Amino acid sequence: IGHYVDGRRVAGTSGRRQPVFNPATGAVSRQVALASAEEVAAAVASAKAAQPAWGDTPPLRRARVMQAFLNLLNEHRDELAAMITSEHGKVFSDAQGEVTRGIDIVEFACGIPQLLKGDYTEQVSTGIDNWTVRQPLGVVAGITPFNFPCMVPMWMFPVAIACGNAFILKPSERDPSPSIFMAELLQEAGLPKGVFNVVQGDKLAVDALLAHPDVKALSFVGSTPIARYIYETGARHGKRVQALGGAKNHMVVMPDANLEQAVDALVGAAYGSAGERCMAISVAVLVGDVADAVVAKLAARARSLKVGNGTQAEVEMGPVVSRAAKDRIESYIALGAEEGAKLVVDGRGFTVAGHEQGFFTGATLFDHVQPSMRIYREEIFGPVLACVRVPDLAAAIELVNEHEYGNGVACFTSDGNVAREFSRRVQVGMVGINVPIPVPMAW
Ligand code: NAD
Repeated sequence: IGHYVDGRRVAGTSGRRQPVFNPATGAVSRQVALASAEEVAAAVASAKAAQPAWGDTPPLRRARVMQAFLNLLNEHRDELAAMITSEHGKVFSDAQGEVTRGIDIVEFACGIPQLLKGDYTEQVSTGIDNWTVRQPLGVVAGITPFNFPCMVPMWMFPVAIACGNAFILKPSERDPSPSIFMAELLQEAGLPKGVFNVVQGDKLAVDALLAHPDVKALSFVGSTPIARYIYETGARHGKRVQALGGAKNHMVVMPDANLEQAVDALVGAAYGSAGERCMAISVAVLVGDVADAVVAKLAARARSLKVGNGTQAEVEMGPVVSRAAKDRIESYIALGAEEGAKLVVDGRGFTVAGHEQGFFTGATLFDHVQPSMRIYREEIFGPVLACVRVPDLAAAIELVNEHEYGNGVACFTSDGNVAREFSRRVQVGMVGINVPIPVPMAW
C-alpha cells in the first residue's frame, strides 16, 4: 500500500515498510509504505501547486465535487466497510455505520456556499465599516487514528477541501487502505489532481508535516500524549493546530433507572467495537443500592457476548486491532486485579475456534474499582468496563468532573430533577440523559 500523490497511486521509495494485519486471523495481509521526509515534501509540493486554482474555484462548483463524492461513497459504502473490517477488525455492520457517519460530514460540506458566507457590520466606528470573509489557508494536513480509518479523516478533509484548501492525509499505518480508496473516489468525483494527497507513514512522516513551512494547519485525532506532542510542535512551527486526544467516558446509573435499558446501553457502549472508540463507556458509576443488580446483569451479558470474526453476521464483537493492543489490554486486566479491583469477568486468553491466531480479548468486567487505581485513571482502549460504586448523585458528579479525560457522559434516571442537576453540573463535552435508544453494538 503506497501513497496517493498528484492524482495517482505512488509506490513508496523510502525502503521502509510495515506489515498490515487482518486482526481476526492474525495474518499479515499487506505491507504499507512508510514515507520519508522527501516523499512528504513531494506530496506537499503537489498540494501547493494545485491549491491556488482550487481555492479560486467558486464554492458552488467545489460543492458539486463533494456531491459527486457523496454519491460515490453511498455506492461504495459496503466496499469501504469491508476494507475497515479486514484491517481494523470491527464487525461489518459497525464498519457500515462508520462510513455512514463519515458520509454525514461530506453531506454537511455540500452546504459550503452557505457556510462560507461572511458578515458585514456598518459603522463600527465613525466612518469605519467592518467585514469578515472566510478564505482558504492553503495546504493543510490531517493525522488520524486507527479506530475510525474512514470517519475521522472525513471529519477533516471534506470541509477543508470544500473551503478551497488542498489536503494531505496521514492515516494510521495500522489500517491504511480506506485512505487510498477515498482518494480514488474523490478523483472520480472530479477533484483536480493534487488537491487531496495521502502519505502513509509513522512518526517520521508526521514530523515532516509538522516542520514543513508550506503546511499551514494540522488536525490531529489520536491518543493524548501524541495529541500534546502534535499541538506543541505544530504551534512551535507557527501552525494552527487542533488536536483531539483520548478519553475515559462515564455512565451513571441512578437507583430509579430502567435497569434493562441501562445495561443494554452499557454493553453496547463498553464492548461495541471492542471498546476501541473514543466515545466508549469505560466506567459505570453505580449509585446507591443499584450496584449488585447492575453488576449481575452486566456479567451475564459480558459472558454471553458473541465474539468472533467481524465478517460473520451474528458476531457482536470483533478482535482488537493488533497483538500489541491485545497484550496492552490484557496487562491492564492483570494490573486491575493486582490493584485490588474485583475481576468479575476475565477476557484474557480468549480464543475463537478457527481463528486461534486472531487478536481477540473477551469482554471484561471489574467491580469495586477505586478512583485511585490506574485502570480507572488511564485509557485502556479495549473491551474492559470498570464499575465504581458511589453513594449518591453528588458523589457521581464529583467523580466524573475530577477525571482528567472525558469526551462524553451519560446518566440513567427517570427523575427529571436529577437529569437537570446532572446535565448542569457535569463538565464534559457531551451529555446524554436516559439515552432512550440503547447505544448499539454497531452504529
Ligand atoms: P495514536 O496516537 O497512536 O496514533 C494517532 C496518529 O498519530 C497515527 O496516525 C500515528 O501514526 C501517529 N503517531 C503515533 N505515534 C506518533 C509519534 N510518536 N509521533 C508522531 N505521530 C505519531 O492513536 P491510535 O492508537 O491510532 O488511536 C487511538 C486513540 O485515539 C485513543 O486514545 C482514542 O481515544 C483516540 N481517539 C480520540 C478521538 C476523539 O474524538 N477525541 C476519536 C478517535 C480516537
